[in-house]
Amino acid sequence: MSLNSKKAVVLVSGGLDSATVLAIARQAGHECYALSFDYGQRHRSELLAAAKVVEHLGAIAHRTFVLDLAQFGGSALTDSSIALPRQHAEGIPVTYVPARNTVFLSIALAWAEVLGAYDIFIGVNAIDYSGYPDCRPEYIEAYQRMATLATKTGVEGQLIQISTPLLHLSKAEIIRRGTDLGVNYGLTLSCYDPSEQGLACGQCDSCRLRREGFSVSGIADPTKYVSH
Ligand code: ZN
Repeated sequence: MSLNSKKAVVLVSGGLDSATVLAIARQAGHECYALSFDYGQRHRSELLAAAKVVEHLGAIAHRTFVLDLAQFGGSALTDSSIALPRQHAEGIPVTYVPARNTVFLSIALAWAEVLGAYDIFIGVNAIDYSGYPDCRPEYIEAYQRMATLATKTGVEGQLIQISTPLLHLSKAEIIRRGTDLGVNYGLTLSCYDPSEQGLACGQCDSCRLRREGFSVSGIADPTKYVSH
């Protein structure tokens, strides 16, 4: 294992943010190992989008880790008995998946240690989704401390850096950044409730944020929406 390893584990969900993160990590010269989660989300379109994004932007390997969080439910994204919100509400949204980023980052940390990778990239953002506790800067700082304490790599003096290049960017800024890097956002899927064919609903919170982001950025929105 080289001390200046350029290997990086990149979490890729199939959404707009993580596609941008993969492009940023690639541009920084990392050898990217893409990691997606089949976590019991309501629809498969997200994983199909993740595969397309990885193929488009390139990675050394792409793993889809099966981890059935739907066994517990507790989120509108993993439990079909909880309705998806159509309006933005105060507080922590029902689309929050209990401890999801902690679970995902822990799997990423395990893979990074096995690979000898010193970087983990995750597309968390504190601007648009301020309701999610595991997207906050203080959460990432705490996770970083824990990761150093928790790993052989860390104890032996090598940091596994948790990189969050989108943390303080608006959706429009993320879209501009990715467009500059050549990301084809037409391959990505942000919708919480897409059709069987993988078309975005255009009405959920995530669709609304994405649409506003394209509108503010001045970049044409390539998203395929269902027609109502
Ligand atoms: Zn939607």
